Amino acid sequence: MDKQKKDKRSRKFVFVPFCLMCQAFQARGIVRYDWRASINPIMQELLDNDINIIQMPCPESQFGGYEKGLKREPKGLSGYDVPEFRELCDKLALETVEKIKAIINNDYEVVSILGIEMSPSCAVNYQYTNKGMINRSGIFMEYLRDYLEKEKLRIPVIGINRRYINKSLEQLKQIMRKFS
Ligand code: SF4
Repeated sequence: MDKQKKDKRSRKFVFVPFCLMCQAFQARGIVRYDWRASINPIMQELLDNDINIIQMPCPESQFGGYEKGLKREPKGLSGYDVPEFRELCDKLALETVEKIKAIINNDYEVVSILGIEMSPSCAVNYQYTNKGMINRSGIFMEYLRDYLEKEKLRIPVIGINRRYINKSLEQLKQIMRKFS
């Protein structure tokens, strides 16, 4: 019997945005699941599938220090698209990809990476701007995808849309089925 069979830990991982597990880190006034700590339908799906959940960093709360970051009001993409914030996102994305590589090199599977649509940092496909909705990743996600591409890591990335949570949940379930 090989070592993996004896070792009874779940071998599947999903990387999630920090606020999926901790809505309190979102900007003020935009929490969607009132009085809940996490975005429960998605979290529940991950728990039900015994997925190891890795919380990615929250660049917006970290920017300028947590003390200030945790009090922040929502700010659009143009408010965050400054060199200092890009530098932070670049660093955090690189660290995240290093972690993903280490996990994969230890014979685990990274099933998916989740983002949060409409976030200037963590959106996968959609952003709100003063011109309406546009197709564009958030800044952190942009760097993350670039590093994944450079490392040739083909991991499905799902944008969780808190307004259409059932649709996002269905996308996640489809991926879970592929890896079950
Ligand atoms: S920056 Fe990302 S992790 Fe932080 S609150 Fe926004 S979407 Fe969530």
